[in-house]
Amino acid sequence: MTKSCLCGMNLEQLTDFVTGLGQPAFRARQLMAWLVKGMDFSQMHTLPAALREQLDRVAVARPALVSERHVSALDGTEKHLYRLLDNHTVEGVLMRYRHGITFCLSTQVGCAMGCAFCASTLGGKLRDLSAGEMAGMTYAANALCADEGIGNIVLMGSGEPLDNYEQVIAFLRLISSPDSLNIGLRHISLSTCGLSEQMRRLAREGLPVTLSVSLHAPNDEIRRRIMPVARVYPMAEVLDACRGYVRQTGRRVVFEYALIAGINNQLHHAQELAARLRGMQCHVNLIPLNDVAERDLRAADRGQVRAFANRLAELNVSVTVRRQLGDDIFGACGQLRAQRLKAPFIEEEVGT
Ligand code: SAH
Repeated sequence: MTKSCLCGMNLEQLTDFVTGLGQPAFRARQLMAWLVKGMDFSQMHTLPAALREQLDRVAVARPALVSERHVSALDGTEKHLYRLLDNHTVEGVLMRYRHGITFCLSTQVGCAMGCAFCASTLGGKLRDLSAGEMAGMTYAANALCADEGIGNIVLMGSGEPLDNYEQVIAFLRLISSPDSLNIGLRHISLSTCGLSEQMRRLAREGLPVTLSVSLHAPNDEIRRRIMPVARVYPMAEVLDACRGYVRQTGRRVVFEYALIAGINNQLHHAQELAARLRGMQCHVNLIPLNDVAERDLRAADRGQVRAFANRLAELNVSVTVRRQLGDDIFGACGQLRAQRLKAPFIEEEVGT
């Protein structure tokens, strides 16, 4: 019998579950409060011992345990490796900003998108994460944040969120609910490589998350060289879906653009990008590429990043350069997991 993963259930579903076990409905609220704290059944002291044992037989409270925790000596960024029940591992990152703690969450084990610069996709996609696993990771990470708690979530870990649409939407509805972590949808960013049909669907969900789009190129020719998805969804279509998202949600779209030496980092590329984005309510986030040992792509140097940003700003494009956090702990997408798959780490269980 497969056990039910309780982390993915909202209060209503949890109520059905506990009443199905012959328990009074009010137990659901108690149970949910413990799940959100990242606790296992044995720690749920407000529940009768018999119920805790019953739950343990039929259900799972913690579908993702923190199996490695790396804390950056430079900026306090934490990179976690989570072990799932089937022993797959995925990454999560806690970033400490002045405006609060942001959790960067994975949505799939590996990724099928094949972007040339990304370590997450090196072994392909192994499977989707369930809403319960994503919530379980978030609860486990939140339990490591002391009293401040996670204030923002970015779906920018491994995987393509819009390639796991239903589970990601269920996760967003759950984690933003008052019974869960009550994280405002405006404090959640979903990053996509540009699956335009799903972007249009997302615009109609009535979930005002910030949409981030990994553009990384000013035209289709360059984009196709580094992002296979561009062969399916041309840039014009992606930008059209972005305009639709702005219209439907009233929220500006954020474009991510990693500057790669010799590929997309010239000033005429900035000019071309500005022309493509003209008139759109958007923001460009320039990312100095994180070198990935397995890939033959290098970061543009700091001066080029600055010059690129300045040119966009001159052309009235709202632009920032992303700070690099956690450089000393394999901060970039998929790097920690890729490293572990090559050289497994001696296990140290740090989950509560
Ligand atoms: N699949 C989604 C979300 C995951 S990746 C997407 O493509 O947006 C999160 C962001 O990190 C994306 O913008 C991705 O392009 C970027 N990224 C991946 N590898 C990187 C690297 N080596 N250096 C800098 N950014 C990288």
